[in-house]
Amino acid sequence: MGYQAGNFDVIVVGAGHAGCEAALASARMGAETLLLTINLDMVAFMPCNPSIGGPAKGHVVREIDALGGEMGRNIDKTFIQMRMLNTGKGPAVHALRAQADKFLYQHFMKKTIEETEHLTLRQGMAEDLIIEDGACVGIVTKTGAEYRAKAVVVTTGTYLRGKVIMGELMYESGPNNQQPSIKLSESLRNLGLQLVRFKTGTPPRVHGDTIDFSKTEIQPGDEKPKFFSYETEYSDNEQLPCWLTYTSEETHRIISDNLHRAPMFSGAIEGTGPKYCPSIEDKIVRFADKPKHQIFLEPEGKNTSEYYVQGLSTSMPEDVQLQILRSIPGLENVEMMRTGYAIEYDAVVPTQLWPTLETKVVPGLFTAGQINGTSGYEEAAGQGIMAGINAGRKVLGQTPVIIDRSQGYIGVMIDDLVTKGTTEPYRLLTSRAEYRLLLRHDNADLRLTPTGYEIGLISEERYAKFTTKKAMVEQEIDRLKAVKVRPDEDVLQLLEEIGTAPIQQSTDALSLLRRPEFMYEHVERLSQSPEALTEDMKEQVEIQIKYAGYIEKQQIQVERLAKMEKKRIPDDIDYSVVTNLSKEAKANLSTIRPLSIGQASRIGGVTPADISILLVYLEHYNKVIAARG
Ligand SMILES: Cc1cc2nc3c(=O)[nH]c(=O)nc-3n(C[C@H](O)[C@H](O)[C@H](O)COP(=O)(O)OP(=O)(O)OC[C@H]3O[C@@H](n4cnc5c(N)ncnc54)[C@H](O)[C@@H]3O)c2cc1C
Repeated sequence: MGYQAGNFDVIVVGAGHAGCEAALASARMGAETLLLTINLDMVAFMPCNPSIGGPAKGHVVREIDALGGEMGRNIDKTFIQMRMLNTGKGPAVHALRAQADKFLYQHFMKKTIEETEHLTLRQGMAEDLIIEDGACVGIVTKTGAEYRAKAVVVTTGTYLRGKVIMGELMYESGPNNQQPSIKLSESLRNLGLQLVRFKTGTPPRVHGDTIDFSKTEIQPGDEKPKFFSYETEYSDNEQLPCWLTYTSEETHRIISDNLHRAPMFSGAIEGTGPKYCPSIEDKIVRFADKPKHQIFLEPEGKNTSEYYVQGLSTSMPEDVQLQILRSIPGLENVEMMRTGYAIEYDAVVPTQLWPTLETKVVPGLFTAGQINGTSGYEEAAGQGIMAGINAGRKVLGQTPVIIDRSQGYIGVMIDDLVTKGTTEPYRLLTSRAEYRLLLRHDNADLRLTPTGYEIGLISEERYAKFTTKKAMVEQEIDRLKAVKVRPDEDVLQLLEEIGTAPIQQSTDALSLLRRPEFMYEHVERLSQSPEALTEDMKEQVEIQIKYAGYIEKQQIQVERLAKMEKKRIPDDIDYSVVTNLSKEAKANLSTIRPLSIGQASRIGGVTPADISILLVYLEHYNKVIAARG
């Protein structure tokens, strides 16, 4: 029999990337929060690549920061390399990527959690959920401790019935030989939640002193690094390079000769892996025509000699892994410090969740992170902050917060998960966002900081800074409209210098800035910009003016969608009585139970014809309800 160990408003199970954001959000909103995790030395641990960000993932980190979350601030404190990717392309795909000192990253996140009011951090293994009157009201741990709360957020990552696979070897384990979480998986299943088996993999780690870097290409960070957090203005972090090498013909031969020992191909692995993060053996088979694959050697931290071998995720037997490593230029004499492995784990089918990430079957129970079928620290943290916000608001009696597809990648991800589900670990890509020109790295604050402020995660001081920035950007755009530019000698020379067409008659600076070659720095040669205008603000002015036409087009699409999103569907609708709806549509609508026509239109198997039928039915339905008064 357990013992009463404490009452809280919110309990978060698991201090991974989702759990940390969830717990910090609910505590910062004033809800008494318990964060329970198997091992306090594994808080915010990075079991895979020591990096944060990249396309779409970097956007999510900006959005978490704009909402008042922690990941952006934490990586700005602990990065060992920062690079803005895709700078040669449009702003929609500009993406920041940082190499993290993964040990410092953990250290600072744990410290922030320990110093946060209303937040209690405890070591323990949750084994069961307490259910009363159909709702989740607490957890029971392995030691028999019963913790009670009005909402529970489960963020157990790759630990649920975790099984590690390396060649012929298989054993129950979480990542990095941590304890797996077995009983909780049963508890979730017994509550009627459908679970699926997914898998992911990681490469070996090698000793830096045994790498011959002269056979690789250096990959340095940006000289003037940008930051993830809007609050970071400066950093003196020393940057370390990464190194690029390639697989060799010998590498491909070793892998092909040992495919019979590869669990991926011997059928030993039952879980479904991420298409966009294939193992090296998978790449050799799927892209057999490719003579070589890129391998990035990434330092795991300043105070360690461990290097992460990016691009060589594998579950091949240990002896084969060493042969593979030593067949790669620069790694001929390498010492392998950790063996690569695959891990299988249970995940919850995410169509069983409301867009708030609360489960449909058990009120008061929320799930976030890899447990919802995603892959990636950023995807996990993006769900974590939303689950924490909504669990907190539920217990504080406030309305839920849902980010929609036009507001953020967080909205795109959660809507994809709860509306369409996923058949493999879901990874965010810019191509998933139909409004990606609105969801840029640079404007996450304009999209989400007002929401963060409203819900109490953004301080007065930060909000004041934000509104000043917003106002100054708008004023500068107005000012440029009024800056007259005459076709005098200096102007014509400047235009010629930058290779854009001369002007015949007077125009204004804003019209010139619309030209692709004409940048804000050129405006400053025509007219002094306000002293207080920061680089950030100037970039905002430039992007808003240059892409005004495209942005406007997407805005119109968003307004059109908003009408569909506003068309709410009653909770108690019985789709089986809606005549002429296709059988498949009836089944899928009854399973997902969309909140709006907009969400219904994104469900697989629901056609535009079905949506028209539903709209007619709802019109009649609402008339009947109205008549009943
Ligand atoms: C081997 C491996 C390879 C990966 N490869 C990639 C990749 O290539 N690309 C990519 O994008 N992502 C990859 N990932 C995924 C990435 O690590 C995760 O997406 C991310 O860590 C998920 O964050 P999370 O918060 O959901 O879970 P996690 O970071 O896994 O954290 C879960 C936390 O919950 C705790 N916990 C679990 N069960 C319990 C319990 N019952 N009681 C209390 N605490 C509990 C754990 O101790 C842990 O702290 C990989 C992960 C692993 C393990």
